[in-house]
Amino acid sequence: MDSETFLSTSYARIRAVASVPPGTSARTLPSPSTLSQARSTLPTTAALLSGRGPEATLSHLTSDIAPALAGHNRSGRYYGFVTGSTLPVAEAADNLVSALDNSLQVHLPGQSVATEVEDAALRLLLEVLGLGLGLGSGDENGRWEGRTFTTGATASNVLGLACGREAVVAARLPPGSTNDGGVGELGLLGACAAAGVKEIQVLTSMGHSSLSKAASVVGLGRRAVKELRYSEVEPWRLDLDAVERELQREGVASIIAVSAGEVNTGRFATTGSGDMRRLRDLADKYKAWIHVDGAFGIFARSLPATSEFARLREFTAGLELADSITVDGHKLLNVPYDTGIFFTRTSTIPQAVFQNPNAVYLSTPTPSSGPTIPSPLNIGLENSRRFRALPVYAVLLSEGAAGIADMLARMVRLARGIAGAIARDEKLKHDYELLAASSTGDEKDNDDGNENTHIVVLFRARDEGLNEKLVEKIQASGEWYVSGTKWEGRPACRIAVSSWRVKVDEDLAFVKDRLAGIAKEWKEGGK
Ligand SMILES: *Cc1c(COP(=O)(O)O)cnc(C)c1O
Repeated sequence: MDSETFLSTSYARIRAVASVPPGTSARTLPSPSTLSQARSTLPTTAALLSGRGPEATLSHLTSDIAPALAGHNRSGRYYGFVTGSTLPVAEAADNLVSALDNSLQVHLPGQSVATEVEDAALRLLLEVLGLGLGLGSGDENGRWEGRTFTTGATASNVLGLACGREAVVAARLPPGSTNDGGVGELGLLGACAAAGVKEIQVLTSMGHSSLSKAASVVGLGRRAVKELRYSEVEPWRLDLDAVERELQREGVASIIAVSAGEVNTGRFATTGSGDMRRLRDLADKYKAWIHVDGAFGIFARSLPATSEFARLREFTAGLELADSITVDGHKLLNVPYDTGIFFTRTSTIPQAVFQNPNAVYLSTPTPSSGPTIPSPLNIGLENSRRFRALPVYAVLLSEGAAGIADMLARMVRLARGIAGAIARDEKLKHDYELLAASSTGDEKDNDDGNENTHIVVLFRARDEGLNEKLVEKIQASGEWYVSGTKWEGRPACRIAVSSWRVKVDEDLAFVKDRLAGIAKEWKEGGK
């Protein structure tokens, strides 16, 4: 078979194993026997000596491997982590990316339009997120001029802390010495010594684990991350008074990392533009950097502008005052793994960190036509990168702001339906308890949790024994999937709605029915 025939027939074979017939619901997990069957087909190294050829290999992939993969994309009821699915147009775009296999490293306007498509995708996304850029060529273009694609929110958080580190140390260098460069040039030890900085701290509330990982990667250390939680009832909220006290410490430079939203609860570190305004004033006064980890939470800004979502828009108001922002593409935007986005106000700071020195063949030629776009390799981590902007571009064009808003609204409505049922439904409320949904811990605020609910629902079974087993029972069903976590020291169950496949009424009825069934079975059978 020639390569063209192989490729065109391979796609039909892929669809045969990946498609979900209308009206059916795919399994969330392969069965244990499917998994062990697949495992038994993995080759030994000796088997690699003679190649099997593309056709036998593709058969192995579609018949043995594919059935043993999880249903992140095929099932709308995969509520674990925040996985997202892949919109069909994004999948199609991703196939085009592989078929043409362009690397985006240097902006070469005379040779490829790829960097311009990437930039258009980033600008469109800024627009959808209400970060105020506009596609025109007015003054607005200077804002969020440091913008790039990454592999995910973890990589974006690494970029955010790297840029923050560069900026907070540079702001403390003695006048005149900045020509020698900051951390990017001198290294952390040299630059901190020159700047009189003895410590760099990251101030947060329930920061995502990847924030600590990023702190380690950029040389600050996991222990640099300080939890400044507002209260035991609202631990996701940032204690702004504590932030102010920390910023006053002598010889210490700070990065403020705003959790928007927090991954266990979906709740937000700031309550609105007032909090963000205060943080901005504090950061300006004490030369701190504000990084927003908005992996999935920032999409609350893209919900329909109706009263239904007013509370969520309020929580995410003011995030545009940040110095840098992390966004995930493979979560709520429903593009394939792996896609993250990083925004920062200027391109000078990422350039100070990520510049490739002395590689003339990598430098950007002065364009004779087309816009000036910083070469991606000088503002982000990778030199060679996949054209992962294309699926994002495709989704934004295909759905438009209205389509994205509608998709996000369906996710929120299902999450709120589930939260409301757990809190109020006669068949559920005696057996389950909704967690982390109130604003203040007051009973009156606690009764529905609806307005505060974004796409995450945190809850537990009231019976200790059932609570220990709840996540396992749900996962073992293969029909739906949730993540386990701990809340206030005890196991808890977490539903994150993140797929375009959400069907609000149908999925709500399903979840209610299964939760009621699990509780009933537990009471009757004691297991
Ligand atoms: C998922 C998530 C991350 C990590 O994102 P990856 O895309 O898995 O790298 C970071 N922060 C928050 C708030 C998240 O939800």
